Amino acid sequence: MNHQESSVKHYRSSRQRKRLLELLCSTEIHPTASWLYDHLKKEFPNLSLGTIYRNLSILIDQGLVQKISASSSFDRFEAKTTPHHHLICTKCGKIIDFEEKVFPAINEEIRRSTDFDIEGYRIDFFGICRECQKKQYKSY
Ligand SMILES: [Zn+2]
Ligand SMILES: [Zn+2]
Repeated sequence: MNHQESSVKHYRSSRQRKRLLELLCSTEIHPTASWLYDHLKKEFPNLSLGTIYRNLSILIDQGLVQKISASSSFDRFEAKTTPHHHLICTKCGKIIDFEEKVFPAINEEIRRSTDFDIEGYRIDFFGICRECQKKQYKSY
């Protein structure tokens, strides 16, 4: 790993953005902005939640990150921008990636019946994750 401590001051904001992206790439939990903030503030003492949001929107602009509007009231983010679907646990809020091409004929079907030209789609599945199911059984 190369540390460029000497240039930290001059490139602080882009270094923060780089670390933000690295952190997002290293996790599959689809974190919230405040989770990202909590994990980066030790490294960047001057960091604010506003900076996180600003850097996130730059990364989204660059097509490196995407925002997920899940069922929770907080936006969640991920660095995985290849097409995939989400399994969202309604108990703990966990988001699990699901990459199977579930309905390959859906584009054609929608285009035929509505004339809508689909560029992409994502399906959110709501349910109970494996861990939450285990917890449910334990309480009996
Ligand atoms: Zn769960
Ligand atoms: Zn995902």
